[in-house]
Amino acid sequence: MQSPALAQIYEALGEEGLKKARWQERMRVWSQVAQLVWTALYALLWVPTGWAAALRDALGGSGALPSLLFVLVFMLLLIPFNLPLGWYFGYRKEQVLGTNRQSLAGWLVDQFKQGLIGALLLGLFFWAVYLVFRAWPGGWWLALLAVVALLMVGLYLVQPLLIRAQFKAEPLEDEALIARLKALFERAGFPFGGVGVLRAGEKTARGNAMLSPKGGKLEVLVFDTLLDEVGPEGLEFVVAHELGHRAHKDWPWMLGLFGLLFALGIVLAHAVLVWTAGRWGLAGPGDVATLPLLYLVLAFWMTLAQVVSNAFMRAREYAADRYALELVPNLPAFESTFVALAKQNLADPEPPEWVEFWLHNHPSIARRLEAARRAVRPG
Ligand SMILES: [Zn+2]
Repeated sequence: MQSPALAQIYEALGEEGLKKARWQERMRVWSQVAQLVWTALYALLWVPTGWAAALRDALGGSGALPSLLFVLVFMLLLIPFNLPLGWYFGYRKEQVLGTNRQSLAGWLVDQFKQGLIGALLLGLFFWAVYLVFRAWPGGWWLALLAVVALLMVGLYLVQPLLIRAQFKAEPLEDEALIARLKALFERAGFPFGGVGVLRAGEKTARGNAMLSPKGGKLEVLVFDTLLDEVGPEGLEFVVAHELGHRAHKDWPWMLGLFGLLFALGIVLAHAVLVWTAGRWGLAGPGDVATLPLLYLVLAFWMTLAQVVSNAFMRAREYAADRYALELVPNLPAFESTFVALAKQNLADPEPPEWVEFWLHNHPSIARRLEAARRAVRPG
């Protein structure tokens, strides 16, 4: 039987909203396909044309410094190359859905800022991978694990930076709500680092919230849009859910798993680089000019391998929901929060199963509502 909350979501979305939600699901799939084709195109531009080998030679070979320059040129050129896709699946899509509130110019500035941070972080990672390939041609995989671990730490640290680069934060003024969240932190046993409201409403209609480390404490960062939509009770739930992720150490586990998959992708790419040595002026794994191939193999591998990390994350989401319901035992508030969130983010409550299996790191709302009912009334 369909839960009453699910019926409310369908009502809140309406025919128009449901159409948009389903279109958004199809866009999820097309964005993956398009990204792979686009990445393949980028590699085709570099490798069979001989440009990769030519740039390597022009920069002075595969030594440490020329390699760094090569990697940076490759990653920085990727930013404008990816712009058309980013525009369609980022900006244009949000316009069609009606969730965009940003000018194209403003969006472009954000893209370049975030693209730059990503390019530098990934660039340094790829540079380290090639240094390792050259230094230990036989035993590179052990050092590789250390380099991947460093990347995962970097990704973790860069998250709050990316958020703050995109949205301005100001302190929450609602004293009652602050006291409520502080009490929630105390019940959960976490040090409360205050609440920052992100001025997201000037850029998007979507809502979101997260916890961010701040001097040994945890700060709540909440989109002003979310606060408007779900109110204090809803925010309490969202924060309780996030505390569940912290209590279960989901971030370290997730990064560990993601890092392992990433490392396996590099191992696969290494085999491809050995196999293609001698073609297109490439000299195997120690040659930085093979980066377009390594990048391509990694992109294809991670598109498949996310099935594993997404399955893991979906299981962790149920656990965080249960944790939130234990901390705040109020099922009606839990359900009305989901109604509000689904409406705000135009979420299809029951996406196609194969899309959920492949691309969703959260279970569908229908499943989460059902699991919550079972958790509260077992049997
Ligand atoms: Zn979650």
